[in-house]
Amino acid sequence: MSLVFEHVTLGQRVLFGSGEAAGHLAKEVSRLGAERVMVIASEFELPMARRVAAGIDPVLWHTDVVMHVPVEVAEKARAAAAEHKVDLLVSVGGGSTTGLAKAVALETGIPIVAVPTTYAGSEATNVWGLTEAARKTTGTDDRVLPVSVLYDAELTVSLPVDMSVASGLNGMAHCIDSLWAPRADPINAALAAEGIRSLAAGLPQVAADPAGLPGREQALYGCYLAAVAFASAGSGIHHKICHVLGGTFNLPHAQTHATVLPYVLAFNAPAAPEAGKRIAAAFGAGTALEGLQALRETLDAPRALADYGFTPGDIADAVRIALPAIPESNPRKVTEANLTALLAAATAGEDPKTLTDL
Ligand code: NAD
Repeated sequence: MSLVFEHVTLGQRVLFGSGEAAGHLAKEVSRLGAERVMVIASEFELPMARRVAAGIDPVLWHTDVVMHVPVEVAEKARAAAAEHKVDLLVSVGGGSTTGLAKAVALETGIPIVAVPTTYAGSEATNVWGLTEAARKTTGTDDRVLPVSVLYDAELTVSLPVDMSVASGLNGMAHCIDSLWAPRADPINAALAAEGIRSLAAGLPQVAADPAGLPGREQALYGCYLAAVAFASAGSGIHHKICHVLGGTFNLPHAQTHATVLPYVLAFNAPAAPEAGKRIAAAFGAGTALEGLQALRETLDAPRALADYGFTPGDIADAVRIALPAIPESNPRKVTEANLTALLAAATAGEDPKTLTDL
């Protein structure tokens, strides 16, 4: 990689500590001088949010959270924030909850303190997403970047192993896709490599001992690095494909990323030898795909899009929508034929190695 590059580092405070979220939140609310806090958490996440907010006095608890942020859901949350003259949004939950806070911040400029409880990583990016009429739109705006992120691995202990694995591999996808994304540079590549290393170390510990904090901490640290790398490098082919599968076919976000990743890696790695070497080294494996597949085997990771309701009959539409969005800079030329083959293999859960020679 050439050492001529342009890199932007996003400004954000990160407070990391198991069991510290409530104390950190009280400190941040006071530091920011906020007086009218709106806590956003789904019904399911509400008990966690109440624990985290024990040291503050919110004016509003908002629980109407829906994955991929439908515009109507965003509008309701914005109206509630305006009605209660909210001056700080606190999101406690997964990427869907963070995403709703971002949708409010996008229109209102109200700052966000994010307390993530999955490994999605949205809290560390300036990317927003909204869904209208089965089409997901994403964009970047620095107003949606949370001013502070409070990481507390204790909040992730309740995340079931299968969801932890899928969500952690969503983080892994941020790292791997960053290495050939449009704004890939040596700084975000370094973050991505360390993200791969820490997720590969942490996720097997999470699977073996879901209640243990060391694995959870490694995984959270890794998913933060992953998201910073992704925010900096932009969306590569993997994200463009998964974005269509989630937004148009309503497939579950984390599981979709976890399933598609080895197919994209097998497809791109032969045309991206430097990225391949970097990924392999981070895994401590012979090749990038061997490293990823060994980890996926250990974790019993999701294997086929068909398991999530995607059918061979959906492939042509997905290709038609995804193809124009795939960056020109992708290391391997993407055609209707090879993208169809990639999705067919991922739908059926075939061995990704078959994609290497397309
Ligand atoms: P999610 O937020 O929908 O959460 C999945 C499920 O896990 C939900 O039912 C939630 O209630 C539950 N959950 C959350 N935390 C839990 C915990 N600690 N214990 C038990 N259950 C818990 O899923 P996700 O994968 O975190 O986020 C997906 C969304 O985030 C998608 O809409 C995606 O587009 C978005 N996202 C955005 C970015 C970005 O940069 N903008 C990055 C990654 C993901």
